[in-house]
Amino acid sequence: MNIAIDGPAGAGKSTVARKVAEQLGYVYIDTGAMYRAVTLCAQRANVATNQNTKLADLVKSLEIELEPGETGQSVFVNGENVTALIRTREVTLQVSHVAANETVREVLGIMQRRLAKRKGVVMDGRDIGSHVLPDAELKVFLTASVKERALRRYREIADSQNITLEQLETEIADRDRLDEQRDISPLVCASDAIVLDSTAMTIDEVINAIVKLSRTKMAEAK
Ligand code: C5P
Repeated sequence: MNIAIDGPAGAGKSTVARKVAEQLGYVYIDTGAMYRAVTLCAQRANVATNQNTKLADLVKSLEIELEPGETGQSVFVNGENVTALIRTREVTLQVSHVAANETVREVLGIMQRRLAKRKGVVMDGRDIGSHVLPDAELKVFLTASVKERALRRYREIADSQNITLEQLETEIADRDRLDEQRDISPLVCASDAIVLDSTAMTIDEVINAIVKLSRTKMAEAK
């Protein structure tokens, strides 16, 4: 089966999705990394987020590959390993603008559906359950309060990036708003998704809850 995990920034989707995939022997696909890769390439090519045609041409010229590894997923664009480069603050601040482009979403959506064709994937993102894989057998909407999400991110990056907790909270709330309010496949909770609020949960509790839900779904399908 396919598992879709959607939710706002910093809710823990990628860690949880990766571990769930590991436990089930599934392939993990981080769709946010694909939007980040396009953003990095747009920045390098000096294509502004409002240059829709140029952005559309750019995305069509990219070959994005995701490779699973011991410590996470590696991301390649036209053969170059950009795994670390797509996590910078510059990329994070622009990615939601790039992700609002219709062609970017169309092209990446096609790649994502192709990756999920043979089933057995855990895919995380914003529109996976609602748009990319509407037939996914299990859909989870993973959320947490903005304060908690900012705090988690702060603990992760505060040492390496010069940023305050308040700044992070504002940036996360801004990104949520852009993702929720865009015209094309915005961040929404699919009507048939199971909502998990992880504000007061540990990562392991969230992982166990999703693995349990998947096993129940698998047993039901037999
Ligand atoms: O998951 P992550 O925070 O890395 O995603 C970065 C951005 O990519 C999101 O804020 C959103 O703008 C965009 N995105 C999206 N649809 C997805 C996955 C990510 O629009 N399925």
